[in-house]
Amino acid sequence: MLGLMQDWPLLLHRIIDHAAVQHGTRELVSRAVEDGSLRRSTYARTRDRALRIAKRLQQEGVRLGDRLATLAWNTDRHLELWYGISGIGAITHTVNPRLFPEQIAWIINHAEDRLLFLDLTFVPLVESLQDKLPSIERYIILTNAAHMPETSLKRAVAYEDWLAEADADFVWPKLDENTACGLCYTSGTTGSPKGVLYSHRSNVLHAMAAAQPDYMNLSSRDSVMPVVPLFHANSWSLAYSAPMTGAKLVMPGARLDGPSLLGLLEGEGVTMTAAVPTVWLGLLQHLEASGAALSTLKRVVIGGSACPRAMTEAFERKYGVTVAHAWGMTEMSPLGSFCSVKSAYAHLEGEALLDLKMKQGHPFFGVEFRLTDDAGKDLPWDCTTFGRLKVRGPAVTKAYFRREDEQVLDEDGFFDTGDVGTIDAAGYMLITDRSKDVIKSGGEWISSIELENLAVGHPDVMEAAVIGVAHPKWDERPLLVIVPKEGRQPSREAMLAFMTGKVAKWWLPDDVVLVEAIPHTATGKILKTALREQFRDYRLP
Ligand code: ADP
Repeated sequence: MLGLMQDWPLLLHRIIDHAAVQHGTRELVSRAVEDGSLRRSTYARTRDRALRIAKRLQQEGVRLGDRLATLAWNTDRHLELWYGISGIGAITHTVNPRLFPEQIAWIINHAEDRLLFLDLTFVPLVESLQDKLPSIERYIILTNAAHMPETSLKRAVAYEDWLAEADADFVWPKLDENTACGLCYTSGTTGSPKGVLYSHRSNVLHAMAAAQPDYMNLSSRDSVMPVVPLFHANSWSLAYSAPMTGAKLVMPGARLDGPSLLGLLEGEGVTMTAAVPTVWLGLLQHLEASGAALSTLKRVVIGGSACPRAMTEAFERKYGVTVAHAWGMTEMSPLGSFCSVKSAYAHLEGEALLDLKMKQGHPFFGVEFRLTDDAGKDLPWDCTTFGRLKVRGPAVTKAYFRREDEQVLDEDGFFDTGDVGTIDAAGYMLITDRSKDVIKSGGEWISSIELENLAVGHPDVMEAAVIGVAHPKWDERPLLVIVPKEGRQPSREAMLAFMTGKVAKWWLPDDVVLVEAIPHTATGKILKTALREQFRDYRLP
């Protein structure tokens, strides 16, 4: 027998409708890409503009299932576009501008995007690529007539002029909740980028789960600044979970440096923010240099790569901001787990609490974990056994876009994350490595992440990476690569002495090298493949 409840498809437009009706005057503040000034809008106005976008897209001939690309920062315009595009059943393909130009062309061609909406910043880049983008019918530049540049882009138009050709007299069409709404390619550190195709249902469920107190912990009283880009997998749900809860939204635009972020945090009363560790490195350095405080910020979500202990310590102890370490991946919409304190650990304080916060935490309802060996056999959740981490849930991918024939799930429907970690009895997960980055020494695994976290705790170290280097006896041994803080030159001996006693002796790196910079991926992670290539012939002492 079926239940007798209403059929209310989980569609994304319902989020902006709810925000407009229940939180209509709540602000959406956005730093303009044109001149860095602040534009102020509301959720009511955002819904109004999203409806106009939807109508305008239909006039442009956009149909159900069409892909439209954006190459844009976190701004009010980018957000309203998301709601407008998905509202008519078209698909927002968020392109990460930090990808190599050839990769940008590759994914736009793979997706066969029809329109490209781009910020002014990216006009020169796209002009140089447009010959390689045959599917793009028109370029819409996210600005107004006053700031419209001279450009060779095909049928280029200023977004505000384009939008002015429609009104908001529009009714959202009825769609199946499994309709695709967004497309995001993984950065493809190995092989070609792979497209993850989100649905209305998966994004709504993901946003509802993420907003809960043990996770993003959002309410209508919050002022939320997503520094994590919309093009980095749904800005970790915030594009949806913030309007869903009625939180004020602060969009930082193109300026992600320490002083600009601090200006918004303080000026807009931001209570909650989220980004990758490299962004917070910039903010913390600026705070240290300027002696400024964080007077309104209560919580910071840090993820995308492991959050170093020194960073959690600085935020919590120096600035009184609670850190939530988060883990996820594009394939998971992207959130998988958060490290908030369950009742089992409520007694922890001081260093023991900090130890806990180094873990990537526990999943919300809607993500199941599984830990297995290479043969797929389940491993114990005993906090020490390393295994492959696999996940299952309504916002986890089951196939990649236009590669639907490739099997990516195990026989029970779990997706292999490619991460290696441990899980403890309370359900907390700790990532020790990407499976391809793990260092295998004499048949045993060494966690590069744990060594990196330890190394960045040294006062002379700005950034650290640990890679495996070939070794005649042990197969591989760890090499520590360091970017020192300005004017500092930590020695090999000093680094090894600092790390001794904090990890097993056989884990200690065989050597330490200082470099000016470490290569990063388009999502701000250390590019270990490039680093391994750079040190391929390195002779360990
Ligand atoms: P890419 O950057 O390759 O496009 P994602 O952004 O989806 O892909 O990256 C997902 C991967 O990032 C995870 O599988 C994991 O290896 C890593 N990652 C994400 N968050 C964390 C974290 N908190 N700690 C360690 N690794 C993390």
